[in-house]
Amino acid sequence: MVYLVEPRLVNEPFGDPGLCADFRFGRRALLFDLGELQTVPPHKLLRVSDVFVSHTHVDHFNGFERLLRVCLGRPAKLRLTGPPGFIDRVQHKLGAYTWNLVAENESDFVIAVAEFDGRKLAAAAEFHSRDAFLRRGAAPPDLPEGVLLDEEDFQVRGTTLDHGVPSLAFAFAEKLRVNVWKDRLDRMGLAVGPWLKDAKRAVRRGDPDDTPITALRKGSAGPGTATLSLGDLKAEAFRLGPGECFAYVVDTAYHERNAAGIIALARNADTLFIEAVFLDEDREIAARKHHLTAAQAGSLARRAGVTRIVPFHFSPRYRDREDCLRREAAQAFAGIIDADGRREAAPPPGDGATP
Ligand SMILES: [Zn+2]
Repeated sequence: MVYLVEPRLVNEPFGDPGLCADFRFGRRALLFDLGELQTVPPHKLLRVSDVFVSHTHVDHFNGFERLLRVCLGRPAKLRLTGPPGFIDRVQHKLGAYTWNLVAENESDFVIAVAEFDGRKLAAAAEFHSRDAFLRRGAAPPDLPEGVLLDEEDFQVRGTTLDHGVPSLAFAFAEKLRVNVWKDRLDRMGLAVGPWLKDAKRAVRRGDPDDTPITALRKGSAGPGTATLSLGDLKAEAFRLGPGECFAYVVDTAYHERNAAGIIALARNADTLFIEAVFLDEDREIAARKHHLTAAQAGSLARRAGVTRIVPFHFSPRYRDREDCLRREAAQAFAGIIDADGRREAAPPPGDGATP
């Protein structure tokens, strides 16, 4: 199966948090958090269409300058979504520079910012390079509750967690995966081409099986077209499967309200990227700083039923103990220890255990 996007952490696990989801086809990427971005080459940053920022602690927002610097001459819109107060933060960043020469440029680079209040996108504003990035009011996109971005192929959802301040967590979900069996297409005498993209789109929209599809025929007589039904194409040449889903969770205190939000957001995800800042032995520091321990992260991943956990955002105090953080998260994910780092209870007598 070919995935729609490839999500990868931007930095090593002791570095600033951030995730880049690069689309396999088409020049596009999504960014989750704006920490240090030096490792991301400019050509990749130029693909970024949307950025989702959990909160504006410096390790999650200092990469804004680099992104801005790279994208400045781009005649396009960059969308940023963050927690309440985010528009002011972006405005302050932009207000720190002198823009007289950029304002004279032909191209208009637009930064569209929206704030998620835990339920809806509740406020929005735009900053145009042609206006020297003065703030303009804008209407927030009208999306269903919990949805931050809704496109034909995928959706990004968000939830608000408590980190002393509101901290957003995000989930990316591909709506339906449609892959093509190339050999079967061959046997049908059909050639690949843009028509396939339209046909896949029709499947994702749920168009009826009798919808006529104009396909490209291949053959020695030169290219031609053939008309077949969407149902036949689905049965013969398409492979449908559940879409890819991953969640990104950083900077959150460990308590049941946050746990419920994380579990609902990440339920059955393929991959959960989750902070594991402290070891269980330092759980009091973790609680004071509103962060998760590795055991708590692994336990949350287990409760959410995800397939794979990727722990990151490790505290530098464990530089030479990375394996301990990973082991603790893995043991909690496997159910060997619980969220408090304790051994899970042994199976009850009569369960195969000899007294
Ligand atoms: Zn933070």
